[in-house]
Amino acid sequence: MSVFDELVGQRKVVELLRDAVTGTGMTHAWLFTGPPGSGRSVAARAFAAALQCTASEPGCGVCAGCHTVLAGTHADVEFVRPQGLSLGVREARELVGRAALAPSGRRWHIIVIEDADRLTEGAANVLLKAIEEPTPRTVWLLCVPSAEDLVVTIRSRCRVVALRTPPTDAVAAVLVSRDGVEPALAEFAARAAAGHVGRAKRLATDAVARERRTSVLRIPPSLTDIGACLSAADVLVKAVTDEAAEHTSSLDEAETASLKEAFGEGGTATGLGRGQSGSAVTRGAARAAASALKELEGRQKSRATRAARDALDRALTDLAGFYRDVLVLQLGAGVDIANADHAQTITSLANSSPAESTLRRLDAILACRTLLDANANQLLAVESLMLSLRAG
Ligand SMILES: [Zn+2]
Repeated sequence: MSVFDELVGQRKVVELLRDAVTGTGMTHAWLFTGPPGSGRSVAARAFAAALQCTASEPGCGVCAGCHTVLAGTHADVEFVRPQGLSLGVREARELVGRAALAPSGRRWHIIVIEDADRLTEGAANVLLKAIEEPTPRTVWLLCVPSAEDLVVTIRSRCRVVALRTPPTDAVAAVLVSRDGVEPALAEFAARAAAGHVGRAKRLATDAVARERRTSVLRIPPSLTDIGACLSAADVLVKAVTDEAAEHTSSLDEAETASLKEAFGEGGTATGLGRGQSGSAVTRGAARAAASALKELEGRQKSRATRAARDALDRALTDLAGFYRDVLVLQLGAGVDIANADHAQTITSLANSSPAESTLRRLDAILACRTLLDANANQLLAVESLMLSLRAG
């Protein structure tokens, strides 16, 4: 067993990271790049664990060092997951301040930033200073889809670890051995997820996720007239909003409840101003409670927006996969299609339309993504996409 077991189909990356842990090529700033689902944050976490491992073979996966890093409780390893749409200057400053502290143990102080492409320009500049003038025992692990997602000044100071899209058979094998999935279902999920390990696991183990994918893949043949396009857009946007709400609402409730508890229900700050009703202390505490609650609501709203966007992005990925399959047949590329369970509709569209139309449809999906990244209205962007997909 090793902390690197979770990394699927990344032999070269594992070798490089193992070497670094034993002293060859170790540095204080790392950039983990790779397509979504290839395992950027998994690699960063495994590397952090191996760096804190106390066994003779680093990254044993069972010692207290490995175990606490993987569980997210190691005192010298901080995971930063921007939950909103961006990570701003204030958060970056706080982070840099914490990162400058010496590790409490004898090894490294490690900061893992997942989705480092969400750093604002100002936040990236704050981070740059910390990386330019490194504290001796501090290690930064930044995860981004591609190196171009970070400003060149940071990029040039990091050692890049490039993950590749893991092959389908490697993904299927890990679903069987690690998650106990039936081989046929594992094979289906690995193919449908096209190398996205987390997505493959969800498809293999979650019937609701499979249903969601099916309803997305049913969209293309349903776009028979303008009314059908508008209604498909409406249904899709509602579905992703519901999916996101499912994910965030329980978190929101727990956070709001614990904040209210900390300040005392109703903002009277029982913990702070007990027995001084009406005093300046109590009024000040009530104001603090109200402003903390407002700030929390702002963060929660930003997180909900991001969750809905991520859910829509998954749907768009499935749609793009459908049209990529159509193109594979039209070009006679001789490779397996990813969505074999929808082979009939894929074949019929491939036979009844030119490849140029399919390319335009794939372009339309890309354009929709760009619009959404620029904060366009979701429903309008998706309506426009559906109309383009119908027109071909
Ligand atoms: Zn260990």
